[in-house]
Amino acid sequence: MDVPFLDLGAINARHADELKAAAARVIDSGWYIMGEELAAFEREFAAWCGVRHAVGVGNGLDALSLILRGYLQLGALGEGDEVIVPGNTFIASFLAISENRLVPVPVEPDPRSFNLDPACVAAAIGPRTRAIMAVHLYGQLADMSALAALARRHRLLLIEDAAQAHGAARDGRKAGAFGDAAAFSFFPAKNLGALGDGGAVVTADARLAQRVTALRNYGSEVKYRHLFQGVNSRLDEIQAAMLRVKLRHLDEDVAWRRRVARRYRDGIRHPQIRLPQVAQEEQHAWHLFVVRCSHRDALQRHLLAHGIHSQVHYPVPPHRQPAYPDLHDRRLPLTERLHEEVLSLPMGPTLGGDAVERVIEACQAFECPA
Ligand SMILES: *Cc1c(COP(=O)(O)O)cnc(C)c1O
Repeated sequence: MDVPFLDLGAINARHADELKAAAARVIDSGWYIMGEELAAFEREFAAWCGVRHAVGVGNGLDALSLILRGYLQLGALGEGDEVIVPGNTFIASFLAISENRLVPVPVEPDPRSFNLDPACVAAAIGPRTRAIMAVHLYGQLADMSALAALARRHRLLLIEDAAQAHGAARDGRKAGAFGDAAAFSFFPAKNLGALGDGGAVVTADARLAQRVTALRNYGSEVKYRHLFQGVNSRLDEIQAAMLRVKLRHLDEDVAWRRRVARRYRDGIRHPQIRLPQVAQEEQHAWHLFVVRCSHRDALQRHLLAHGIHSQVHYPVPPHRQPAYPDLHDRRLPLTERLHEEVLSLPMGPTLGGDAVERVIEACQAFECPA
């Protein structure tokens, strides 16, 4: 039997009865958009994050984009302003910036944490810089106290891309509770996954929450009265109902991911496989368990030959993508090297102990090509 990278079927099968009952409740209600399930999920997710407001939207990219659009309309950002972003993030972080006619300024990460390096951020701050977008990549909190200090000193917005970090925390404070606003994704494979697309904006800023609430629904607060130029990006009732079920199990799921990571970190001891570094156990929600290997492709083939499925997050950095020709001349050597070396091992809340041991054994048996 192969070890899958992530078994979404098994993850949702654990809650099949609850999910089916919740779906039936919505079907029978006759109300499918902007109803009681959404309102309840927003309350419950905000409380779980420890932040006052959560606004459900269509997906994680829209959550990021609507934060920026909201701040543009509220006057905290202006067209052409620069947003500092880690060079090694998923492309959605960049897209949210550029689709709002803001300018992504990619900077090198700290290679130990894969997250923004505050020194590189400080060096990139210029007269047009208005915001820092911290990405809690792979589930580990960025250095939010250093970034918050920089944001305060230079009067910048601090936005969290928390799409991979549901449950990461420091001193009891969760991802989503550190910046001016945070974006979550509920793409099925995330730590809290819907059975389709979904996302949320989380913020303590009542003005932003109110604006995003209008923007996701055609810029409207009262039907057919359009105060702002909005979009259609809503979290539907079925997905909200699915997420309410899965939110009740999220703490256990994150705890399970931490146990898998602990076992990997104890068991994998290979001179050519570099393990992820962790500041504090609770800071990591282990969306992905990412190792580095200078023979990454050989390691991936070796694991597959042992029936173990791994993935690369991500093979090409955004500044090297065809979508961003204007960024092709940027030199981000560390980012580029990371993209050649990273490999994500199987990780998830249904990954069993035997499978974890097989992954460890296969890693230990890897022989580097000469
Ligand atoms: C998944 C992800 C997103 C986008 O979320 P979608 O719901 O797929 O739009 C944004 N940023 C990061 C870091 C992600 O991993």
